[in-house]
Amino acid sequence: MNPSKASVESTDPGLCATCRHMQLIRSDRGSVFYLCRISFTDERFPKYPRLPVRECEGYKGA
Ligand code: SF4
Repeated sequence: MNPSKASVESTDPGLCATCRHMQLIRSDRGSVFYLCRISFTDERFPKYPRLPVRECEGYKGA
């Protein structure tokens, strides 16, 4: 079994999973990071939010 794949599947990103501002980043090692693109223009939002995100002012559904 691929351990990095297992950890990806067990990650619960909360709202970020369905947010338009989210960009999935895959590292060479197979780790996955949830990048919040609002962070580029609004410093209130961390680049890599603490997951799971349950409430977010910037959330925008598809
Ligand atoms: S705006 Fe909020 S919900 Fe959307 S990606 Fe950023 S932190 Fe996640």
